[in-house]
Amino acid sequence: ARPAAAAMVKETIRVYARVKPLGRRQQAGSYSIDNEEPLPSLEITVPRDLADGFINNKRESYKFKFQKIFDQETKQDVIFDSIAKPVAECVLAGYNGTIFAYGQTGSGKTFTITGGAERYSDRGIIPRTLSYVFDQLQKDSSKVYTTHVSYLEIYNECGYDLLDPRHEASRMEDLPKVTIMEDSDQNIHLKNLSLQQATNEEEALNLLFLGDTNRMIAETPMNQASSRSHCIFTIHISSKEPGSATIRRSKLHLVDLAGSERVAKTGIGGHLLTEAKYINLSLHYLEQVIIALAEKNRSHIPYRNSMMTSVLRDSLGGNCMTTMIAMLAMDKRNIDESISTCRFAQRVALIKNEAVLNEEIDPRLMIVQLKKEIQDLKDELALVTGKQRTSELSQEELLQLDELIETFLKDNDPDSSLDVGADMRKIKYSFVHMKVFFSNGDDSKKLLSQDISEEKNSNEELEKLKGLLQQRDNEINILVTMLKKEKKKAQDALSQLNATSAGSTVSEQSPSMSLEESQSPSRCFSLKEAKVFSSSVPRLSFLSRATGGKMSLGCQEAFEVFKRDHADSLTIEDNKQLLKQRFDEAKCLGEKLNDVRNKINHLKGKIIQRQIQRAALAVSNPSEELTFDPIEENLRMQIEEEKKSYKTVYSRFKGLKVEIEHLQLLMEKVKMKLQKDFEIWWSEEAKKFQHEKPEMVTSPNTVTVCPQFIRSSQHLSPISFSDTSRDSLNEDPAVKKNSVTFGSPTLKTRTPPSSTASIPLTGDSQADADILAFIKARQNILQKKG
Ligand code: ADP
Ligand code: MG
Repeated sequence: ARPAAAAMVKETIRVYARVKPLGRRQQAGSYSIDNEEPLPSLEITVPRDLADGFINNKRESYKFKFQKIFDQETKQDVIFDSIAKPVAECVLAGYNGTIFAYGQTGSGKTFTITGGAERYSDRGIIPRTLSYVFDQLQKDSSKVYTTHVSYLEIYNECGYDLLDPRHEASRMEDLPKVTIMEDSDQNIHLKNLSLQQATNEEEALNLLFLGDTNRMIAETPMNQASSRSHCIFTIHISSKEPGSATIRRSKLHLVDLAGSERVAKTGIGGHLLTEAKYINLSLHYLEQVIIALAEKNRSHIPYRNSMMTSVLRDSLGGNCMTTMIAMLAMDKRNIDESISTCRFAQRVALIKNEAVLNEEIDPRLMIVQLKKEIQDLKDELALVTGKQRTSELSQEELLQLDELIETFLKDNDPDSSLDVGADMRKIKYSFVHMKVFFSNGDDSKKLLSQDISEEKNSNEELEKLKGLLQQRDNEINILVTMLKKEKKKAQDALSQLNATSAGSTVSEQSPSMSLEESQSPSRCFSLKEAKVFSSSVPRLSFLSRATGGKMSLGCQEAFEVFKRDHADSLTIEDNKQLLKQRFDEAKCLGEKLNDVRNKINHLKGKIIQRQIQRAALAVSNPSEELTFDPIEENLRMQIEEEKKSYKTVYSRFKGLKVEIEHLQLLMEKVKMKLQKDFEIWWSEEAKKFQHEKPEMVTSPNTVTVCPQFIRSSQHLSPISFSDTSRDSLNEDPAVKKNSVTFGSPTLKTRTPPSSTASIPLTGDSQADADILAFIKARQNILQKKG
């Protein structure tokens, strides 16, 4: 028999659509959303003339059904509540879950899954889900939970572990490679993918940030990883009820898929991949798997064609609550792609899932269960072989039996049965019990066990009473000593009270007073508290390395200019302002908490005072009984009130803490990006300059980066060399060149980074010329120095 019951949920994959807000210069395409029952639909209209440009019979309007359609103005919290929360709930209940975002590059996949880099309110499904999950886990004390996270990037059929803690990856190849292993049961295992334990929201967010940073750093304009790779953030939860042998394990995959745009449109490098319609072959395989899953009676599903489909194998058709978000950009130029995204979504919506609870048995507890089973079997065997047991039934066993028999006799159901187990003694006892029951009649239902062990009982009773008496004696002694002490204390206190002003001296350690709640103000909140936030966020080592290191003056100046004009610096400024505001708020709340805490302490003091006074009174006047004291009761009520307000303020304080940490992470990320943009730009500029001065080129095959640049960029770059202390190497640029990442010859052919819009050079021409002149002059100076 399988001890763990397998629960199953069967439903089709839920497919949602989200329309990205239109850009300022984008022309709106024509579409309409109809919230009809039971499923809303999205209608896209393609103008005839445009349609005619393609195949003749191209339809004019297309209609697609979705679980729900979120139009442009939909905010991230709504997306989380309607799409992710139900999946997170399933995962908390022990099922697997997957949410994947599908759509062309720029349609908002990363924005939806991870979030925007600017505002706290823009945080996406991952941070919100983490927050929700940890909140729920904290609330549930009935189980023991363990949580881990992993973050996998798949690029070009290779898996990379984004949670590599070494922070040294400057290229994707530097990250640990993850490979797929299949066991004999055809289960997929990911070798080399680290599962990092996260015990709370903060730890999990730090891991997410680490992964996102690695993801960003590993990307070069050459590999365009963000549009061509899949990223899978997974939350692993295992739970166990105390004492139970079953462990539930569940996984929640949050998947940011590669861009779904077709090669024909992007026309990379002019040559098309003939074998696939997609820039991403693995997306093509994903579609094949989806088609196969949607078809009835298909026995073979081509999961093995790609790493992506292998990894998501049990998350697509199988054991999983799967949800897809079709990301749509509805401007005219992207409407074609959006239509094909919708088409894909319609196929996905046909797939049926069977989510099964993932339960396993804990071996230790299994042993306990087996032992019990062995005992039962032994009992049965004894019964069958007629072996008599001589030991007497214990008092407890007898009482249990009595109860069983009573319930059996009272039960009016003719089918009810009495099961006392395979123990002849118990069976015999039951018969005797029945006999007594019937001979005594209904009124005198005397329990047999009481008769049998009457003598034994009375002896026990006597012992018990003796013990109790001793206990009471002790208590009385203790109370008398206490009273004496109290009397002395009271006298002392009274004399002191007379000497000083009332309320100023209050004993802190009162044994009778305690704020029981875990949230009781155990610490003093001060300005320091707010500052602790910043230091509590572990800084990634390369950040300090990147900013703390020395760079050449020229490079530094250029960086200042670059920073000033970079679009992200606005974000940084905004966030700084916001952070300051939040810090102030936190400070305010911290002060409030202190106030409340002081108030509570003050009230506590008053109660103690009151008690001392009354104790003193009772001692000096023993006839007066200690009765209910309305004043003390009132004080207690006041404390309760204060505690309530403390709790509200505290929870706001905590929320603010999470927000501040998130903002800090966002800022770090933007700073990193700025730095990276600058390095790319700087190396491009350096190269341009070199092209203008061919005599500087040392050899036609080597990199055309001037030595000054290499020296300065070493310190600036978050990329670490294998051994920076080897000065002899540093001094020889010819040797160094080969190990500098942006010095790689391939750089020459690469297209400008997508973020060039934010680089001064693509702004107005006057500014561009200024910057170039500035760089040139700087280079000249540096070269002269060199
Ligand atoms: P993808 O990951 O699909 O390539 P992104 O998530 O990077 O696309 O989105 C492209 C740009 O559009 C980003 O700058 C992002 O901030 C912005 N964006 C996407 N969706 C939204 C949205 N719903 N609201 C505001 N900005 C969005
Ligand atoms: Mg993206």
